[in-house]
Amino acid sequence: MMTLSHSITPEQNTPAWHQLEIDRLIDSLNGDRENGLTEDQVQKRIEKFGKNELETKKPKPIWLKFLLQFNQPLLYVLLGAGATKAMLGEWVNASVIWGVTTTNALISFIQESKAEGAISALANAVTTEAMVLRDGQKKLIPSGELVPGDIVILTSGDKVPADLRLFKTRDLQVNESALTGESVAVTKNTEICPVDASVGDRHNMAHAGGFVTFGQGMGIVVATGNQTEMGKISGLIEENHGLSTPLTRKFDKFTRKWLLIVLGLAALTFAVGLRSGNLNSALESAVALIVGAIPEGLPAVVTITLAIGVKRMARRNAIIRKLPAVETLGSATVICSDKTGTLTENQMTVQEIHAGYQEYRVTGNGYDPTGEIFFEQKPIQINEEIALQECLIAGLLCNDSRLENEGARWMVIGDPTEGALLTSAMKGSFTPLRLNQKMPRLDSIPFESDYQYMATLHDTPQGKVIYVKGSVEAILPRCSSYLTVQGGSCEIVDDEKSILTRVKKMADQGLRVLAFAKLPVKNEQNTIEHPDIKKGLIFIGLQGMIDPPRESAIKAVHACQNAGIQVKMITGDHIDTARAIAQRMGIGNGQVIAYTGASLAAMDAVDLANAVASGSVFARVAPEQKLRIVEALQSRGEVVAMTGDGVNDAPALKQADIGIAMGITGTEVAKEASDMLLTDDNFASIESAVSEGRSVYNNLLKAISFILPVNGGESMTILISTLLVRDLPILSLQILWINMLNTITMTTPLAFEPKATNTMDRPPRNPKEGLLSRNRMKRILMISLFNWLLIFGVFEYIRMTTGDLAIARTMTINALISGRIFYMLSISQLIPNLLGRLRGEIPMGERIPAIAFGIIGAILLQIIFAHVPVINQLFYTAPLTGQEWLFCLLAGSPMIVWAAIANRVDPLEGN
Ligand code: ADP
Ligand code: MG
Repeated sequence: MMTLSHSITPEQNTPAWHQLEIDRLIDSLNGDRENGLTEDQVQKRIEKFGKNELETKKPKPIWLKFLLQFNQPLLYVLLGAGATKAMLGEWVNASVIWGVTTTNALISFIQESKAEGAISALANAVTTEAMVLRDGQKKLIPSGELVPGDIVILTSGDKVPADLRLFKTRDLQVNESALTGESVAVTKNTEICPVDASVGDRHNMAHAGGFVTFGQGMGIVVATGNQTEMGKISGLIEENHGLSTPLTRKFDKFTRKWLLIVLGLAALTFAVGLRSGNLNSALESAVALIVGAIPEGLPAVVTITLAIGVKRMARRNAIIRKLPAVETLGSATVICSDKTGTLTENQMTVQEIHAGYQEYRVTGNGYDPTGEIFFEQKPIQINEEIALQECLIAGLLCNDSRLENEGARWMVIGDPTEGALLTSAMKGSFTPLRLNQKMPRLDSIPFESDYQYMATLHDTPQGKVIYVKGSVEAILPRCSSYLTVQGGSCEIVDDEKSILTRVKKMADQGLRVLAFAKLPVKNEQNTIEHPDIKKGLIFIGLQGMIDPPRESAIKAVHACQNAGIQVKMITGDHIDTARAIAQRMGIGNGQVIAYTGASLAAMDAVDLANAVASGSVFARVAPEQKLRIVEALQSRGEVVAMTGDGVNDAPALKQADIGIAMGITGTEVAKEASDMLLTDDNFASIESAVSEGRSVYNNLLKAISFILPVNGGESMTILISTLLVRDLPILSLQILWINMLNTITMTTPLAFEPKATNTMDRPPRNPKEGLLSRNRMKRILMISLFNWLLIFGVFEYIRMTTGDLAIARTMTINALISGRIFYMLSISQLIPNLLGRLRGEIPMGERIPAIAFGIIGAILLQIIFAHVPVINQLFYTAPLTGQEWLFCLLAGSPMIVWAAIANRVDPLEGN
């Protein structure tokens, strides 16, 4: 047998925790299974053992990250082009190429680091929490603060926060696949394991990284952070908040292909140039083509645009956990949402009670226990209403929640459905504390959506009694008699129908209905299991509570439907309750078709696909069925966003195109499986995220539509002029200048474009349509052609009239930039935004779109380009007269008409 040293140092002497006798183990850790550690002990242990976190690798040093920016084929080519110039002795030329290339790399480096920083900050903001026992009280703390010796309470849906030795379990099942590779959850118990049991066989341990898929348990922390089994195998984990998404990967592929084509064309120009001129000019053409044809600013712009989208979504309570979701969100066609708490407030108040044969009304608002119970317009005398008493007692005892009042506000800690029952009991003048003392709880089966009931066993003055509450469908079939007003009980046979009529009446008003029952048991019984309450219960009554729809959710539902996105309610609640709420919220545009989970289960694939398409309410749906619903929708080509909070929602969240977990009520399992997290659990935040997602995509389209035509125009220019054996209208260096100016002053600001006002007025985009659709290609070609005409025309004309190459080139570039600015105005939100301010629709205080400053910057840079002597020397430019400037401006202006046609051919949002 292994002996334990008194001070447990994590590195040496790690005991085989699974084979120790539990009391000795707890003693050796100075633990206390009743009260947990004291804050004092915790402090000391945190100092000694550190935080319960896996160590991460040191991030790469900044200079290395910067150098890695050059690790791109395009930049090799550019650096190579500089080197060739250097070999030819053109040192100035070479250094300017290198200088501009480095500047470009620096800009994208800064932008990408910012983007990465923003995204990882968000990722770190989401922490896991653990329920512990400390100082004799249950507390929810961040898992990082756990120390060896802490007592942890596990419930289904939790992530196991550290390595635990279990000392109490109830049907506890843990999925430890991350550790053992075993995909099925294993049942845990508290028996001692043999010393040589492998990690997967240590059934009295719950290991960090596992998920509780069922039941409950309690255990003592034996190892934290890197000392856990998980920490041992994973070694140092790399902080990876990758910026890669399907879209960025597509771009990478596109750029690589394009690079090959460009290199081919460059070889061609080189060959043509050699035949007709000298090596130098041949090389210049080839280099100019390469720098002109390659959209080097594009990858960085895609990254920033995505990052900005993520930030904007976070501001609107939607945290992106997986970056690709930013893209997918914009194309969502169906949103499947939970009802309770997401579409509704989750602010439950009991309004109606049925007990005995009587119907009671309850007054008051929220959880505030001031209010009265009325029978036929008169306040009741509680002592005379035995059935009502039992109904309230059942609701109070079979309950895990607690009410607290902060000043005048009453809040519920725990499940709001249960909080409402405490309030109604208090209105009937029962006090939770006193009643719980009088009838102490011996055991309980907590509520799980799959069972739809909860049960507790109590030691009452009349003997032991099990109280059960749950959905009518779960309770009624288990009952064989009902409680009369005076407290007697009668056969239930004749009354089932009348109970169901009452349920329907309440549900039709949108009330959430809970049924209550009890079962007196023998005095020997001290625990309860599911089979104990299979039959023979005495039906007590019903309580119906309102849960008002969220105002913001009603608006959001409307906005979604207006944007061509279907909203479907998926709930465990009663079909009539769900339908009534859906109707009130305008779901299904006034025509609500509802299905129950049971009816879906009986359908074949074809019927199911039709049902999920036509239905907008799915009630009494078990979490497992959500997966089928997602798959059926996807089989019809829909892009599905699905919300979830429970353990069993994980498969559906993973399957959905966008899995959305609830930040407040969601389990760790659901969060882990999700792509996005709602910090306020509100449906309205989904709608915000979708509209931000559309905006991101739209800004990407704009960036592409803006960048590619410059490259198109420039490469056409070089190719054609070389083939025609004419002087190049723009030199390679000047092309680098133009591209740098474009990136800094125009493309980057595009990523910050404000959202167009009509983002949610159009149907979702076709998910199959790529970024470069046929119409978009037409647009790009059209604008490229214009750019070429402009460059070629201005250059040839000015050279002919002045005979000065430097002036001709300077004017050509100015004209090109002038055209660019007009084009930018045609796709950006700047003009609508400024007009909106004048009309008073947009507050003057709101930030002016970044593009306005970009345009001013571009003009200033062009003045420097033409008028600063050093720049004149480096870039072969020349100062211009006022008239010449005006000429450039006018030369670019036909773009206004041209761009308007392009907007017809390929409409972009917001135009
Ligand atoms: P949803 O969250 O979609 O409203 P739930 O699965 O939470 O659905 O609830 C389904 C049904 O289970 C409810 O209609 C109610 O009758 C019953 N129920 C809900 N919460 C509890 C609870 N805490 N205890 C017992 N029964 C409950
Ligand atoms: Mg619920």
